[in-house]
Amino acid sequence: MTLNILSVASEAVPLVKTGGLADVVGALPEALAPHDVAMTTLLPGYPAVIAALPKKPKVLHTWQSLLGEPARLLAGKIGAHDLLVVDAPGLFARGGGPYGDATGRDWADNARRFAAFGRAAADVAGGVAKGLAFDLVHAHDWQAGMTLAYQRFAPAGPQLPSVITIHNMAFQGHYGADLFPALGLPPQAMAIDGIEYHGGISFLKAGLAAASRITTVSPTYAREIREPGFGMGLEGLIRARESEVSGIVNGIDTDVWNPASDPALKAAYSAKALGKRSANARALEAEFGLERGDGPLFIVISRLTWQKGMDVLLEAADHLIGIGGRLALLGSGDAALESGFHAAAARHPGRIGVRIGYDEALSHRMLGGGDAILVPSRFEPCGLTQLYGLAYGCVPVVSRTGGLADTVIDANLAARQAGVATGVQFDGVRYQTLADALTRTVSLFRDPAAWRSLQRAGMNADFSWSGSGGAYADLYKSLTVAP
Ligand code: ADP
Repeated sequence: MTLNILSVASEAVPLVKTGGLADVVGALPEALAPHDVAMTTLLPGYPAVIAALPKKPKVLHTWQSLLGEPARLLAGKIGAHDLLVVDAPGLFARGGGPYGDATGRDWADNARRFAAFGRAAADVAGGVAKGLAFDLVHAHDWQAGMTLAYQRFAPAGPQLPSVITIHNMAFQGHYGADLFPALGLPPQAMAIDGIEYHGGISFLKAGLAAASRITTVSPTYAREIREPGFGMGLEGLIRARESEVSGIVNGIDTDVWNPASDPALKAAYSAKALGKRSANARALEAEFGLERGDGPLFIVISRLTWQKGMDVLLEAADHLIGIGGRLALLGSGDAALESGFHAAAARHPGRIGVRIGYDEALSHRMLGGGDAILVPSRFEPCGLTQLYGLAYGCVPVVSRTGGLADTVIDANLAARQAGVATGVQFDGVRYQTLADALTRTVSLFRDPAAWRSLQRAGMNADFSWSGSGGAYADLYKSLTVAP
């Protein structure tokens, strides 16, 4: 029997993306299809989402007042799969990004926007639209968290089992208690085991407290968030629900991320023909204004933030150059880091090249031509760029945390002798640990046989969605099949 899942999220590739969340939500329907699971994705009606609907979309339901806003439920497709859209122009029909204006400032009414989105999602799960019935609700991150609170505190109680996935614990959706009257929830919801959090309201906590099961995007991160440094205030709740928390690593879309067929590359290649990468390397050097060198060309594709350890990388940039490396960096984020990397490039012309911005095609060219990808994150729920690095023979150099710990095998002696090492890991994101990892990477690079072995082992590893799609399907089945 096919299971029908309602996936509730604030972004999904290819319609709207600010980070890895969108990649996962966009990939899940396809990943689940072979497992007899039909997933319908529910998104807010941002302009880019409305534009992707047919000219005259089917209206499945109308709300006179969705927390005060007129709204409609529209039907469409995302790829080959079903899409539902909450069309509430007063909340979602605006320029800028999904969460803020063009300057990056959060919308002042985000609490109302995503509470209303959650209200709508709970209504849909509850059967408000004729002919639409689901077996389980899967909510993603704080923006969808209120869905599960509305379900839980519905007059008839929660009708469906639910899963919430934490893609990043750093974003929790905290608001003041003065929001409560506008939410339309019963008084008992404003309690410590409900949506209340330190006197205010937390949308993520609301979802975590209500969900039948909690998942996050790697087993290591699922353990780490029991601790204050990673749980960011919600570690107590995670510990209390420990047996219901698990980690499932993200896959990558191997149609998009495949060096053998990537149209962005100058030269396509496979694990058997790594020599062809050099044409991509020459093109990349030219694009970043870098000199040729006999040391590795390190690349970075990242938000430039504290989480990603970019401040520590900036400190270690001179060391990276001193040991014979070069660096090509693509990213955007904190202004101080952006100007810091510009300054490092000015200090090392021909050795460090920097592009500030977001450029998907360039990220492919970097993976196809770079030798090693640096991911020195302080925390990393799963991380995708190290997986792309593995697929492209661009060896990942990563901190041992979250999904980075779960997906990269460090080139220690035993792993190298067994031929299973795929990258370099280091413990703790500090100048010295990163500098040591860079030094270790350069010496591995200077041993061509060892380096080829790392590249090949990474390229031969399977990070497609097939395994993780099955893991989600098993989870859904465990919650929907009567014991
Ligand atoms: P996070 O979601 O925390 O930013 P992930 O590694 O999970 O980190 O996902 C980031 C995604 O965004 C990856 O697909 C990565 O390739 C992409 N990305 C990040 N910065 C850039 C950039 N400046 N240009 C192109 N792609 C980028």
